[in-house]
This record gives sequence, C-alpha cells and structure tokens, in this order.
Amino acid sequence: MIKAIRGMRDILPPETNRWQWVEAAAREVFELYGYREVRLPLIERTELFARSIGAETDIVAKEMYTFPDRHGDSLTLRPEATASVLRAVLEHGLDKGAGVKKYYTLGPMFRYERPQKGRYRQFYQINCEAYGVDAPELDAEVILLLLDILNRLQLGELRLLVNSLGCRDCQAHFKAALKNFLADKDGLCEDCRRRREANPLRVFDCKSPHCQAILADAPVLKDYLDEACAAHFARVLELLARHGVAYTEQPRLVRGLDYYTRTAFEVVAAGLGAQDAVAGGGRYNGLSRELGGPELPAIGFAIGEDRLLEVLPAALGQGQEFKVFLAALGEAARDRAFSLLQELRGQGLAAEMDFEGRSLKAQMSLADRLGAAYVVILGDRELETGVANLRPMRDFAYIQGEGVRLTEVAGGRMAVQQEEVPLDKLPEVLAQRLLGR
Ligand code: ATP
Ligand code: MG
Repeated sequence: MIKAIRGMRDILPPETNRWQWVEAAAREVFELYGYREVRLPLIERTELFARSIGAETDIVAKEMYTFPDRHGDSLTLRPEATASVLRAVLEHGLDKGAGVKKYYTLGPMFRYERPQKGRYRQFYQINCEAYGVDAPELDAEVILLLLDILNRLQLGELRLLVNSLGCRDCQAHFKAALKNFLADKDGLCEDCRRRREANPLRVFDCKSPHCQAILADAPVLKDYLDEACAAHFARVLELLARHGVAYTEQPRLVRGLDYYTRTAFEVVAAGLGAQDAVAGGGRYNGLSRELGGPELPAIGFAIGEDRLLEVLPAALGQGQEFKVFLAALGEAARDRAFSLLQELRGQGLAAEMDFEGRSLKAQMSLADRLGAAYVVILGDRELETGVANLRPMRDFAYIQGEGVRLTEVAGGRMAVQQEEVPLDKLPEVLAQRLLGR
C-alpha cells in the first residue's frame, strides 16, 4: 500500500468541518476590514524566495523544496506567502492607487523540516498582506484584525509579543553593535559563527542554550531605533493599549525572515509546547525594492492554521448535520424516495436514502450512523395514503433550526414526538423544522 509522504498528512472529516469553520471565520473578518482574496501558484522561481526571505535564514538555507523543472529552471514549492503575494501585486500593478491595498490568501506552504507535533512539511497558513501606507495606524489595525480572527475562534490563553526592528538604517547600526559584541565571544555554535559574519541578526534564531546564554547580554534593537522608528513604534503600542490589547514587548523578537522592518509581532498560545507560535508578522517596507519594484510600504501576518486547530476548543466548528434519512420499503417506495431525496436537497436539506434494499432495521441503524435528525419511513401504506410519519431520531430536538440534544434542554421536557405529514408537504415541513424557515 502506498502511503502519504513523511511530514505530509491527510486532513479528513470530521476534522475538515473545523478547518472550514476557521476559514469561514477568517474570511468574514477579512471582509470587515476591507481585504480581498488572492489565489496564487504553489510553485515560484526559487530566486523569489532566496532573494526575499534571505540566504542565511533557516527557511532558505535548510527548508525549501527546490527542484529543477524540465528546462533546468530552479523552482520551489512556496515556503510562505508574503513573497508570492508581493510578486503578484507588482506583476499586476495592484500596488497602484491611493490608500491601503489589502489582500488575503489561504493555502498550503511547504518546508522540509523535521516532522513533529505542530510542525509538518505541508502546512497551512492564513495570510494577510497590506500595501501602500507606512502609518502606524495600519500596523495597529493589522494586529487588531489578527486578534479579531483569533478571538472569534475563542482560543484560550494567547500572548501577543511585539518588537520593532527599525528601518534599514537602524538595523545597520544595530548589526554593527551586535557584531562588535559577538566578536570576542567564544563557544558560539558553528551556525552562529557564520551568522556573526554574514547576517548577525540571525543569531537570535539559534536554539542552542549556550548561544542563547551568550546573547542574554547582547544589545537590543530598541536602543538603536532612530527618532522616526521609535515614534512609529510608540504610536503602534499606544493604539493597541487604547483598544485594550495586552501585549508584551519582546526586545529579542526578530522573526525568521530577513525582510522585516519596524513592527514585528508574534502570537503564542499556551498548550502547544515547543511549537507555540500560532501567528507571526510584521512590516516589510524594503521588500518591494528588493524584488525590483517601487518603494512600497507593506505589512502582513501569517496564521499557522495547523497549530491553530490544535488549540481550537474541541466543541467548536463540529458542523451541524441536519440529515434526513428516507427509509423506503419496497420498489415503489424506493422509486418515490429517490425523487423525494432530490426535492429535499433542492430545499437545502441534506438527505440520504438506502440504495441496496436493506431491511427497515438495517436502514434505521444506517440513519443513526449518519447522524440523521429525522427519519421518514416510506412503504406501500404511505404511498397509498399520501401521508408519512416524521420521526425525530433519539434525543434530538430542533428549535428554530438549531439542533440541540434533549439532554441539554432544561429538564429534558421536550418529548420526542412523531408527526404525520402529507408527502407533498414533506420538504416544506422539514425545511421549517431543520432550517427554521
Ligand atoms: P517556527 O519558529 O515555529 O518555526 P516560523 O518562524 O518558521 O515558526 P513563520 O514563517 O513565521 O514561522 O510562519 C507563520 C506561522 O506558520 C507560524 O507561527 C506557525 O504557526 C506556522 N508554521 C510555520 N512552520 C510550520 C510548520 N512546519 N508546520 C506547521 N506550522 C508551521
Ligand atoms: Mg520555522
């Protein structure tokens, strides 16, 4: 038997209900904030990522799925969305015009990492990207948008970490100071010795406790912000505080990609262990120029959907299945049921029947397994009288279209009652019971 590739997983029902629910919530919030969806290729020229994410980053140095195509061009399965969305925005001139240009996209990303809990080789992100405005209000708005999505999902304990990486000038001063600090430090790991020369900011990515201990006394970016960058950051924090957002300043937060400038942030969730970041983002004002585009301020974030699903409360997004099962006995009844089935679906009611001529008992147990809310039994008598019995299954009751287990209704006082319904009124009555209309 052929199995899925290591680090790639199948997401199956009923788990997919929860994914759909999360994505629907995200889309709704994006629309509220004026974002529109883009759908982009999963494969891009390797150069796009190598140039934007940075050669010394973990993603580019170790994690990309890169391969030559039939013409020998180097292609890469996208490891993240920011570079692709900006590529598309520049290619189609979507950066033109006044105001903030707002786009979102959902979909899989690929990184060749060691698979473990919360870390897959194909994983999913919900991405937000905004272009054209450098005002701190946009930074605050983007963070509020992210928190709006997360709050709608009723996630437990979340922490927002924020930092400012300054502009390229601040970063140049900081890097010089950091290089200076690291120059006489013995015992840095091999990666960090290389980073020290090539791209000192990346030493903050190091997982080695020894390197981290050395970095405890390292200079912090905050002390190297120029006046404009410091004012920008202060205004972002002020707006967050004004909207009741609890944040933690995290002076060592640099994020794993080279393109960030000014505001950078991350949301971590309790209960995820080592892989605790559910979302991350920041400004990347310099990226457009780096890709050969015009000066274009930009900011965005990515939510890690796989990890988000791990902390989503179990009761949420299960999806209500308002199934009607038609239990038909005899050929004539089955024939009538087949047409009725399509009528019910035409009314927006999920409906099923048995095609294999099983016994009533077998059909009832199938209805039960499918989670049917109602069973309608159709036999010769029903065809003759034109009236059928509508039988609510087990302890389900329906109040204005909401499926509720009777055990959850105060005192369990709602009795499970059968009712007689004319066959030609069945779609109408069921729509009323199940969809509340
Ligand atoms: P980490 O430090 O956990 O490796 P990262 O900095 O590489 O995260 P980003 O590039 O910022 O992650 O991606 C944004 C989000 O995507 C992360 O916060 C995380 O939730 C999710 N993510 C990143 N890599 C993976 C992966 N391999 N599997 C599942 N989710 C991931
Ligand atoms: Mg990573």
